[in-house]
Amino acid sequence: MIPKMNFHTHTTFCDGKNTPEEMVLSAIQKGFKALGFSGHSYTHFDESYCMSKDGVKEYQKEIQRLKEAYAPQIAVYCGVEQDFYSQEAISDFAYAIGSVHYIKKGEKLLPVDEKADIMDRDIRELFGGDPYAYAKVYFETVAEVLKKTGADIIGHFDLLSKFNERQTFFNTENKRYCDYGIGAIEALIPYGKPFEINTGAIYRGFRSQAYPSINFLKEIKKRGGKILLSSDSHDCNSLGFCFEDMVKLAIEIGFQSTLIWTTNGFEEVGLKNSVF
Ligand SMILES: [Zn+2]
Ligand SMILES: [Zn+2]
Repeated sequence: MIPKMNFHTHTTFCDGKNTPEEMVLSAIQKGFKALGFSGHSYTHFDESYCMSKDGVKEYQKEIQRLKEAYAPQIAVYCGVEQDFYSQEAISDFAYAIGSVHYIKKGEKLLPVDEKADIMDRDIRELFGGDPYAYAKVYFETVAEVLKKTGADIIGHFDLLSKFNERQTFFNTENKRYCDYGIGAIEALIPYGKPFEINTGAIYRGFRSQAYPSINFLKEIKKRGGKILLSSDSHDCNSLGFCFEDMVKLAIEIGFQSTLIWTTNGFEEVGLKNSVF
């Protein structure tokens, strides 16, 4: 049985709406046993959403304070969400989530999840109108995310589907789309690190499925991949959002366990009888 917890949590130190302390208090109120913070790593080419260089130190100090202050009630971890193109070190953090938020075309870094209009323009102007050429670069980047970042967790595997609820950009049954995605899965599986089941886009109303999609989750399962539940929370209310449904889904797909983060690193826990 999995205790209530979440390891993908943003705060006012990056693009979250609540302070770390508000998040901790909310997690305690919800009966969480652990809360892991994952502030966005600094990216010099886009400072709009990430922690600032000085902010990172303040963030670490504040999380350490909360960890000590609330130690009897909840385990608090200071992690980081490391962007593929971030040049910062991850060694000062308990764990890192490796995430691709930009793809590179020539010298340009294109944001994947910022706006549908931006994706539309980039596909037209830089990929000759071929969405699958865009998907290829995206998944080729994801395939390298653990090698590049040294992260412990694979963040929102198919983030490029954020604006694709109505199949506007990609037909997710298209062979090229599936093959590129499976290529990335096969490149990542040997690391033995978990893929998040990330419910952030469901909470924010963009998607009806988590990242990765059910189809990709099946491919991950088939190849012996591991999972970890995450709500990619940017406010208190979303902590643990939809986890109950995700446990059911994971069991349906055939997963028997999930990983959780502990002071000793990952621990594997059974999915059966989990209550959220
Ligand atoms: Zn992210
Ligand atoms: Zn995030």
